[in-house]
Amino acid sequence: MSLTKAYATTSATTPLAPFTFTRRDPGAAEIEIQIEYCGVCHTDLHQARNDWQGTVYPCVPGHEIVGRVTKAGAGVKKFKEGDLAAVGCMVDSCRTCESCQEGLEQFCEQGPTFTYNSEDKKHGGITYGGYAEAIVLDEAFALRVPTSLNLAATAPLLCAGITTYSPLRHWKVGPGQKVGVIGLGGLGHMAVKLAHAFGARVVLFTTSPGKSADAIRLGASEVVVSKNEAEMQKHVNSFDFILDTVSAPHDINAYLALLKRDGTLTLVGVPEQPLPVQPFNLIFKRRQFAGSLIGGIAETQEMLNFCAEHNITSDIELIPIQKINEAFDRLLKSDVKYRFVIDMKSLG
Ligand code: NAP
Ligand code: ZN
Ligand code: ZN
Repeated sequence: MSLTKAYATTSATTPLAPFTFTRRDPGAAEIEIQIEYCGVCHTDLHQARNDWQGTVYPCVPGHEIVGRVTKAGAGVKKFKEGDLAAVGCMVDSCRTCESCQEGLEQFCEQGPTFTYNSEDKKHGGITYGGYAEAIVLDEAFALRVPTSLNLAATAPLLCAGITTYSPLRHWKVGPGQKVGVIGLGGLGHMAVKLAHAFGARVVLFTTSPGKSADAIRLGASEVVVSKNEAEMQKHVNSFDFILDTVSAPHDINAYLALLKRDGTLTLVGVPEQPLPVQPFNLIFKRRQFAGSLIGGIAETQEMLNFCAEHNITSDIELIPIQKINEAFDRLLKSDVKYRFVIDMKSLG
């Protein structure tokens, strides 16, 4: 057992503050990773502030983890001490249900064990995430990190990367298609990069006109300021696929109307309130309204390898952990370019 320094929040209204807990020693199939960088996902903020209910305190967020293996159990095959390793949103699942067998551990019928704020079915207690100096997990849920990529800028791929890669692949986004991305934050900027890399023509919808030049640089062909109704009207009935990454309540009907016949709008953003749908928007053009949750372990590795091949990482603002509360406040104002990543050395 090792005493582990971390940052935690103790209620929905208190800031994150230093916190210490014990990590178990790695078992035979497990590794211990010393965390070098951890991305700051908007989910961390939703969970810390109990936006979705169900947060258990103290809560140590963080599920975009990269670091080095410091210990490997006797049965570990994929890693040795000193290797780079990464952890995303899950640390375990039942591994036997239909979804697990198909490599879709995120849809495990028993519920996967998420990296933080999740009941640890095997070891008891609640999981603690990556705003910490180390993590211990089964090697089956750890990813190999391509050495060619900048390590800090790789961390956000573990959630923002896979959460956008998976639906773009599932709905077969590719050349000849017109694809919309709503919101240029952590997930949105990865969606723009990935959809562009898959060969689609990308249109970015934003509430922040100041992000337009960046969106074009990241791979969008066009930027639409969503508050401008005339601009929105120009795109009615024209999209094959739209990925919605918005973290707050917004009018989904304005976007459903932009899909062409049989087009799909997929939600990955999780506003805390329901999003009312106008039925005619679906019925008249046989449009589909869907959702997607992160991605399985094999697909996460595939995404990391794809990113290495195409030299894709996240655009980041590196912060010491002492600035995490400020980073949360800026996330709420859509003021991040385009992912905060914590430099774990700052834990001291
Ligand atoms: P983020 O970096 O804060 O980006 C969200 C973006 O949404 C903002 O930058 C902003 O873009 C836009 N936005 C924010 N408030 C808005 C409003 N009121 N109306 C319209 N647009 C608004 O957040 P993130 O880390 O990318 O996460 C986005 C959402 O995805 C969160 O709800 C998170 O919990 C969820 N998530 C889901 C999964 C999954 O598996 N499904 C995985 C990870 C995260 P503009 O400034 O361009 O408008
Ligand atoms: Zn996340
Ligand atoms: Zn399962």
